[in-house]
Amino acid sequence: MRFSHVYVEEKARRYPLTEEILNRCKDAAVIPIKHYKDIFDRPRQDTQAQKRSPALILAVREGARIFKGAPVCQSFGQRNFYYSSSVMNCLFDCEYCYLRGMYPSSNIVVFVNFEDYEKDVVSFLEEGPLYVCASYDTDLIALDGLTGLAGKWIDLAKRSSNLLVELRTKAAPPVLENVPNVIYAFTVSPDEIVSRYEKNTPSADDRLKSAARAVSAGCNVRLCFDPMILTENWRELYGNFADHAAELVDFSKLTDVSVGCFRISKEYLSSMRKKCLDSGIAWYPYVIRNGVAQYEEDTDRQMQEFMCGRLSRYIAEEKIFTWN
Ligand code: SF4
Repeated sequence: MRFSHVYVEEKARRYPLTEEILNRCKDAAVIPIKHYKDIFDRPRQDTQAQKRSPALILAVREGARIFKGAPVCQSFGQRNFYYSSSVMNCLFDCEYCYLRGMYPSSNIVVFVNFEDYEKDVVSFLEEGPLYVCASYDTDLIALDGLTGLAGKWIDLAKRSSNLLVELRTKAAPPVLENVPNVIYAFTVSPDEIVSRYEKNTPSADDRLKSAARAVSAGCNVRLCFDPMILTENWRELYGNFADHAAELVDFSKLTDVSVGCFRISKEYLSSMRKKCLDSGIAWYPYVIRNGVAQYEEDTDRQMQEFMCGRLSRYIAEEKIFTWN
């Protein structure tokens, strides 16, 4: 993606990553700013228009950088489950993305002080093994050509055997490096869902083929059938898709798979509705359970059970994870 404007926070100027990124955005107008929130947190931004042509903001992340895993996310049986976000917002534009409800802006913020993330990880590791979902609130692999941050997390994993890094993506990279303590988690959906709700993302087959290449290279690969979106023909759609995925990817070599229906915190849903008046996903009449907007309990259960059953034709049940 080409950015027409890059805002650079005063403190970010002295970081080498800032220079590297600016060198990759030579055509952009570079605008110095005091603090990223001066741009990112402005009220009444047109997030839909920004999504079509986002600005880039380079900033320094202060305060906490590693967080305890959220209840709506899956821990995959890992005890010390944390997440980290070194970028805010994403190149892709999924209609169901919780970021639409979470942030006041669709501009992309890259935190350039990865050194501080490394120090945080090292200090967490003093307490024991650590599982970090590093591609949180963004898609780090999709942005790697610009930021190199996915590569930096992989390098950090190579130096820290007690660290397990998950990089979740909807991209379809041609090659991924085989590192024993890195899990590449491909989020996959049937093409009908991709074309309707996952704007700018690679096709289902491109993602599955990328996952298949990573499996062949010996990488740890997770396939995430999450979020499943309710449609009239969801059984046929997701059942056929599971069969198709198993034709392209060797499921016997997958680390695991995950299954989950769409869900979002009620606060994010309410904010999403204000911004996305024409979104069928945002305006579906969800039920709220424990602060989370989700499909009716029966529907949610039926969809997850159906998908788990179908996937169990191809992978052992203990390798299938659901979020509730
Ligand atoms: S790929 Fe993930 S982070 Fe990016 S827009 Fe889609 S759901 Fe959101």
